[in-house]
Amino acid sequence: MIATLVLKLTETCNLDCTYCYMFNSEDKTYTRVPKYLPLETGLQVLDHIGAYLWRHPGHRIRLVLHGGEPSLWPETSMTPFLEAVAALRNETQRLSLGFQTNLYDYDAGLLSRVAAAGGSIGVSLDGPGAYNDRRRVTKGGNGSYARVAENLRRLEADGLLDAFGGVLSVADPEIPPETYLEWVGTLPKKRVSVLWPIHYNHDAPPQHDYGAWYAELFRLWSAADDPSIDIRIFRDAIKRMLGSAHHGDGVGGDRLNSIVVNTDGQYERHDYLRYFADGAVRTAYNVREHGLETAANDAVIRRCADLRDTLPEECRICEHSEVCGGGFVANRLGGAGVDFSRKSVMCGDHRRFFDAVRSYLG
Ligand code: SF4
Repeated sequence: MIATLVLKLTETCNLDCTYCYMFNSEDKTYTRVPKYLPLETGLQVLDHIGAYLWRHPGHRIRLVLHGGEPSLWPETSMTPFLEAVAALRNETQRLSLGFQTNLYDYDAGLLSRVAAAGGSIGVSLDGPGAYNDRRRVTKGGNGSYARVAENLRRLEADGLLDAFGGVLSVADPEIPPETYLEWVGTLPKKRVSVLWPIHYNHDAPPQHDYGAWYAELFRLWSAADDPSIDIRIFRDAIKRMLGSAHHGDGVGGDRLNSIVVNTDGQYERHDYLRYFADGAVRTAYNVREHGLETAANDAVIRRCADLRDTLPEECRICEHSEVCGGGFVANRLGGAGVDFSRKSVMCGDHRRFFDAVRSYLG
């Protein structure tokens, strides 16, 4: 079953982040598809979502507007599309909306329209300016932090903080954990997701001790005991260890039931495959001819929807199996073909982090 549909409104960006999986990874799909999603294709996607929700009572879908940079989608497409999303949300009551932006450009009108459509605005930032600006750079190589931080303040000043869903960071062990935690405390809403790096797999093993970094950040966060600071992977790990079936992309490892639609209308597998190989994300299906169930039948999407089927043998006897499930999907790839049957190349890092959470819970 599909829980999340990631819709690529654009295949272009106003930044050039060094680790970007859309434009600076193995995958070069962006060179072969349109820069902008045609409005008609976006509306077809909404039709498919509506039909899917009608056929599957009780199911919910999260639609995430993504890119590239989604705010670069022409206003003549964005406005009618958001109106159609709002209508579908009202009609079904089972559709939620996310808008993932770098917030480098600020358009109060656009962000208000996203908020009016019930959307939650996620902002990508990788910690304090001195660290963020080594990776999240403009096409001219300059740092982006000062401008994005100013735009975050404008979001607050414009009364859009309720629609701000939080910050998405990629973990960076070069940031001292205490520095990162202090920085989270300065955000207008202290809510962050800290992602395992997706650019490591069995062909490209990690270069840093991520496990020690996560473990120390967790230790500092739990010692601070400040409920206003919400670090999603910590919340997810605690819930899971306390017996919840709750899962996140970095926790649980049991399913990844999302689907992507690119600007040419092609259904794609999760973005986590973009670092693995050029074209590894592509399926044989497109929105002009196929509905969501057909796309969900793609062999890799089906395997992602139930990763328990490919839980590596050594993970079955691991004490963290329930919460780790073989590790973060992107880090399990490598070799020929899309294969999840090996445990994560970051097993030691996952283990160190989950050890810290388990020892906290006692
Ligand atoms: S910590 Fe390692 S062995 Fe344990 S479930 Fe995760 S990847 Fe498998």
